[in-house]
Amino acid sequence: MSKVITIASQKGGVGKTTTAVNLGASLGVFERKTLVIGIDPQCGLWLSFGRNRENLRGGTYDAIVNSTEPSKIIHGTEIEFLNFIPSNIWSNDEETRYLTTITKDIMSIKRIIDKIRGDYEFVLVDCPPSLGAVTVAGMAAADYLLVPVQSEYFALKTIGRLIRAARIVGRKYNPNLKLLGFLLTMVDSRTAASVEVVKSLEEDLKGKVLNTKIPRNVRLSEVPKKGRPVVLFDIVCPGAKAHLDLTREVVEKTRG
Ligand code: ADP
Ligand code: MG
Repeated sequence: MSKVITIASQKGGVGKTTTAVNLGASLGVFERKTLVIGIDPQCGLWLSFGRNRENLRGGTYDAIVNSTEPSKIIHGTEIEFLNFIPSNIWSNDEETRYLTTITKDIMSIKRIIDKIRGDYEFVLVDCPPSLGAVTVAGMAAADYLLVPVQSEYFALKTIGRLIRAARIVGRKYNPNLKLLGFLLTMVDSRTAASVEVVKSLEEDLKGKVLNTKIPRNVRLSEVPKKGRPVVLFDIVCPGAKAHLDLTREVVEKTRG
């Protein structure tokens, strides 16, 4: 059975897209057939797979607004076991049409995924930084919710609202939605402050924080510029190692 993991947080810059790209790539390296879908109009997922606007064959916009068959907008990557669907929204008009369509039909993302999930072991959904209709639609389509949390004070504030939103989605649209866990990102183990934040988040979110922590690592921030997931250009850097660890943990936690 395929597993759909939606990566969500209303906070921008916490590592959602970085996780979608690099967890996806590592799953691919482990020969777990994986599809990464960008549903954030702004996520620019395609950059991290070495594409530019001109060589995309379409994306989430077409599937949502024009009912294009999802199989027609799937793109391959350098990794045999990894495909992706970019979000391809280039104007305000397109963004409005996309948001309006999803707001009217919250199950639209789920229907798209249901058509292709049989071809994949994992489907990762990269959400926008909001708890609006697009994220709700992403959660409505998911088996698991993965929440990147930037290791900083005040992170808990964000989490409370997100959990309430996920509960509502669970009640209204998706009783099968499970929390895969909170993923601490941009952890800097050399500073006492960061170590303390990690400790207090682990206490406050008892048992829900994944064992793997993603370190702050400049190699991860280079992914969009290099147009390749980190495992393809520096497999021994701390960021790549952490994503390989995360992959093992995710495979283990979603087993069965
Ligand atoms: P989101 O999708 O939640 O908005 P991104 O994944 O785009 O967040 O990350 C925000 C920025 O931080 C990007 O420039 C990204 O390259 C950088 N970044 C993300 N994770 C790390 C990390 N672990 N170490 C260093 N830079 C990171
Ligand atoms: Mg993003």
